[in-house]
Amino acid sequence: AKSAGRGRAEIFDQALRTELEARAQLESDVRTGLAQGQFELHYQPVLGVTDGRLRSYEALIRWHHPERGLVPPADFIPAAEESLLICEVGRWVLATATKQLADWIWADPQTHRDVTVAVNVSARHLASPSLVEEVRQALHDSGLEAARLVLEITETALMDEPTADAHLRDLRALGVAVSLDDFGTGYTSIGQLQKLQVDSLKIDQSFLHADDRATQSLVELMVTAAHAFHLDVVAEGVETREQLDRLAAMGCELAQGYYLGRPKPAGETVATRQAGNDH
Ligand code: C2E
Ligand code: CA
Ligand code: CA
Ligand code: CA
Repeated sequence: AKSAGRGRAEIFDQALRTELEARAQLESDVRTGLAQGQFELHYQPVLGVTDGRLRSYEALIRWHHPERGLVPPADFIPAAEESLLICEVGRWVLATATKQLADWIWADPQTHRDVTVAVNVSARHLASPSLVEEVRQALHDSGLEAARLVLEITETALMDEPTADAHLRDLRALGVAVSLDDFGTGYTSIGQLQKLQVDSLKIDQSFLHADDRATQSLVELMVTAAHAFHLDVVAEGVETREQLDRLAAMGCELAQGYYLGRPKPAGETVATRQAGNDH
């Protein structure tokens, strides 16, 4: 039994070593990728539910890996979030997204009159003492007005990080908007919404995809509560006409999803939308 125990410990040791090596490899690949321009942002539109007007673009990261091809964020963002590497990724995203919207506004001010760009900010980056300065820098370098930038954060980021509150206050003092992402999947109760320093919330797509009556009432409740607290509401993951119609009936004003437009590289967004074949 003793030697079997030792055998297991060795297997465990080996597994741990492999895991640590894999993580170190991924970290170094991400660093190389940032240095060599392997990352790209895709942009997905957020539209007005009743008028279909473009309100915002959410920036979603993609990695063109030289050997692995197109790597989705789920395959490297969680790993990057284990270390300070996520802050480097986040800084690149902030700089790129703000420049992109500034370019679009410059090229076509009419279409982008009050359009914002939304960037996902990880918990660790929100906690970082340099985030506020990085946001200020990105706005300065791009020339984008603060009100055009939305930072998407999750409930976990607010709960886990003691400095998150102070940073949110500073960011909102800059004039940047904050949106609570994946709402309904964490532990924030509707009552707590009043105290949170956010401007809008995004109802997680899992609620849209369940079409039982109970879940639909829940969505309606979230919309009503958000409005009561003067928050804008974005419904995520709208894939069908029926879902969009239901949202309109509930008074939910903003929506995002494959039915309205898939995430696309910067060069394809506006052109494709005008061609009207986005579905
Ligand atoms: P998220 O912030 O909740 O982003 C929404 C995800 O839903 C995106 O997946 C988007 O492509 C997908 N989506 C949009 N509409 C639909 C729909 O109608 N149906 C379905 N089934 N999916 C839809 P994506 O781009 O793979 O990103 C996954 C997650 O990775 C994001 O979830 C976010 O948590 C993270 N992420 C993406 N880009 C960044 C980034 O630049 N920084 C950080 N920190 N995280 C990022
Ligand atoms: Ca998001
Ligand atoms: Ca989300
Ligand atoms: Ca998510």
